[in-house]
Amino acid sequence: MAKDKITIAIDGYSSCGKSTLAKQLASKLNYTYVDSGAMYRAITLFAIHYGLASKETVLVGELISVLDSIDVTLKYDSEAEKVTTYLNGENVEEEIRSMQVSEVVSFVSVIKEVRAKLRSLQQKLGEQGGVVMDGRDIGTAVFPDAELKIFMTASPDVRAQRRFDELKKNGKSVSLEDVRNNLISRDKEDTSRKENPLIQAEDAVVLDNTNLTPSQQIELALLWVKSKLV
Ligand code: C5P
Repeated sequence: MAKDKITIAIDGYSSCGKSTLAKQLASKLNYTYVDSGAMYRAITLFAIHYGLASKETVLVGELISVLDSIDVTLKYDSEAEKVTTYLNGENVEEEIRSMQVSEVVSFVSVIKEVRAKLRSLQQKLGEQGGVVMDGRDIGTAVFPDAELKIFMTASPDVRAQRRFDELKKNGKSVSLEDVRNNLISRDKEDTSRKENPLIQAEDAVVLDNTNLTPSQQIELALLWVKSKLV
């Protein structure tokens, strides 16, 4: 039976434009957008803040023992017109995008207990349908029954350049080489971990946007949505 509101799962490699597409789809369809990566980043920021995680080491047992005291919330900020991430009541939207967090997040997201906590939060956010969620395991673990699953990819050079431009635009001082190395190492960690690795769901459609403009990309995705709504 055709549905009024479907669930859209977008997975893929780091910085291949998942959130851009997810936000555009949510706005066109009047759906809720959920950035699952922001949640992993918020827990990572907490762990860094309390000395429980760094590039060198993660104190897994210690982090697990305080997981219940970590509250991650996504709220719509009507002034900024975007979804904003809160960690224990504090707006951390800016901080979670730093290179420091990017360099540690893939080591925190391998932890089974961290994933279980966030997965159940994500499933609650999407239980009514009408949600577009992006991440690494949305179509495989969070919403395995999602009506539309999109698996995104683009060449590493294109992804690094786009991410570098975005960081620069936000006043961050980074080198293109550091950004590229970070993407490659996160992809490696994310695809090779034991718990819910990044893999393409069998029933996902692939979107390689190496040579697509944002408007071509959204047009294509809307055609897929349409095919699921009729
Ligand atoms: O999407 P974003 O690049 O912000 O995600 C940051 C990191 O969070 C990823 O590199 C991955 O390690 C982790 N992540 C995950 N599962 C998700 C979303 C993100 O493991 N569903």
